[in-house]
Amino acid sequence: MRSVLDEGSTHTGSLVLARRLFKGYVRPYMGRLALSMVLMAVVALATAANAWLMQPVLDDVFLNRNQTMLVLVPVALLVIAAVKGFADYGQAVLINKVGLKVIADIQAEMFAHLMRADLAFFHGHATGALISRFTNDVNLLRAAVSNALLGMVKDSFTIVFLVALMFYRDWLLASIAFVVFPLTILPVLRLGRRMRHVSSSTLTEIGHFATLLSQTFQGARHVKAYGMESYEERRAGGLIDAIFRLTYKSARVRSLARPMMEILTALAVSAVIFYGGRQVILGHTTPGTFFSFITALLLAYQPLKSLGSLNSYLEEGFAAAQRIFAMLDVEPEIRDKPGAKALRVTGGEVRVEDVVFSYAPDATALNGVSLLVPAGRTAALVGPSGGGKSTILNLIPRFYDVGGGRVLVDGMDVRDVTLSSLRAAIALVSQEISLFDDTVRANIAYGRWSCSEEEIVEAAKRAAAHDFIMALPQGYDTMVGEHGIKLSGGQRQRLAIARAMIKNAPILLLDEATSALDTESERQVQAALAELMKGRTTLVIAHRLSTVMTADVIYVVEAGRVTESGTHAELLARRGTYARLHALQFAEPEPGRPPERGQIQATGS
Ligand code: ADP
Repeated sequence: MRSVLDEGSTHTGSLVLARRLFKGYVRPYMGRLALSMVLMAVVALATAANAWLMQPVLDDVFLNRNQTMLVLVPVALLVIAAVKGFADYGQAVLINKVGLKVIADIQAEMFAHLMRADLAFFHGHATGALISRFTNDVNLLRAAVSNALLGMVKDSFTIVFLVALMFYRDWLLASIAFVVFPLTILPVLRLGRRMRHVSSSTLTEIGHFATLLSQTFQGARHVKAYGMESYEERRAGGLIDAIFRLTYKSARVRSLARPMMEILTALAVSAVIFYGGRQVILGHTTPGTFFSFITALLLAYQPLKSLGSLNSYLEEGFAAAQRIFAMLDVEPEIRDKPGAKALRVTGGEVRVEDVVFSYAPDATALNGVSLLVPAGRTAALVGPSGGGKSTILNLIPRFYDVGGGRVLVDGMDVRDVTLSSLRAAIALVSQEISLFDDTVRANIAYGRWSCSEEEIVEAAKRAAAHDFIMALPQGYDTMVGEHGIKLSGGQRQRLAIARAMIKNAPILLLDEATSALDTESERQVQAALAELMKGRTTLVIAHRLSTVMTADVIYVVEAGRVTESGTHAELLARRGTYARLHALQFAEPEPGRPPERGQIQATGS
């Protein structure tokens, strides 16, 4: 699968991105946007009016000593300031609201889209990189959207009015100034293109860094246990250094814009003063006209500068938008067929027929697997690690689609029924982290959000979890911590079992924990599982002798194939792989007898 997170080689045109942003996200707020634009025009006009007033100030008040103007001009200044102030406040509030709303909408859409993405998408992309899309990229986009809206309207209007005033005052002088100004734009545009490149590399590195952080913090125990602190420090150091170099480079590029524009502006102003001063000395124009002109020129400097840096914001924003859109454009491959019907479960028989599957083009994980779990029965999958057991389990709820063959539930191909009905029929209890940082109650109710309090307690009781829950500080309202960190391994497992109980699905997929629990917890978990499996079609990846002995059928999965099947007794009698596995993995010492040689204890995963 092509990664959408590391910058691809194709650059979508800025215009295409801008159009998509506008059509999809800005358009709903057009009313507010239009109003804020009107207010921006008022602000711009007020700025130009200030420059205009310089002429009567100098010519009428100072040179001609006109008494009426002495009063009129200050009053006009005050009125202009008041109008400008209100308009400025209004446009800022409105434009911020639009910008922030646009971003909020995009974030919500990104999250909703990701929640529906294929499992393969999450396996193919590092968590940190995904999180970086939501934080860094969205922030860049936010800056670009508000600066763009502000700059394109307010600053451009201001410049247009000021320029118009300059031409009105002295068209020749204005023409001279504007030979120089466009020259300042060219280098700034070139800087913007460099910014885009640097900023996308920076974000990729920040994504890698976030991934490293979350991995090392979550795996802190293993980092310590294996004494890998210095190694992780070096890895992090390398990334921190790379981020430093890139952000420093972008700061350097960005810092260049301002002095460059200032020098070029000084050039323009000097030329204007030289020519304009001469005109005044020669008596061709009044000092008021000249000062009004120069005020307009200086006032135009700030908005022009903003427009100049706007480009680098836009470049960064477009790069971010491109990555965000790339993520929004990834369509899940696993979805309902047109006209898919709801799965009607009669008994919950699961049949896997000649299934071929690979995660990557040249790595076959399953190579013609067939198996049958009759309704309400239990099948145990055993075999060496990497043989394909989890993969078989993944195909039943359609976390992945088969490459060949079929998976049938009660005779219906899982690809022909709706995903929601299929997944509603299946409960999953696996070894991977399954608890969320929420209350015990919410973690159990995750199985069926509409369940009642009584059902939650009932499920907890049947999962042998009620007693320990009641002993927790806030009972069912206790927060379990990130990934259930505040609970013991056995307690976490029993909560996961209670959740599956609540779901009450006819088919149960179970990945038995490999990590050893103490005898008492083990007994409780076993009892809870036995209770859960009652009356359900169960596929279990078995790591315990008791599980294989009670299973109705055992499938030995090796190198992507089922190599043996039968009951415990039948398979032992065959003296094949199962018999060997049994001797190595499943044989448990009888009470009171020490383990014999050749038997291995199940160890932590
Ligand atoms: P088991 O559960 O028997 O240990 P798995 O079904 O997990 O075996 O793995 C079967 C094969 O598929 C292995 O070679 C494994 O490396 C590969 N595999 C498992 N999950 C993925 C994945 N998400 N992406 C790529 N390859 C995978």
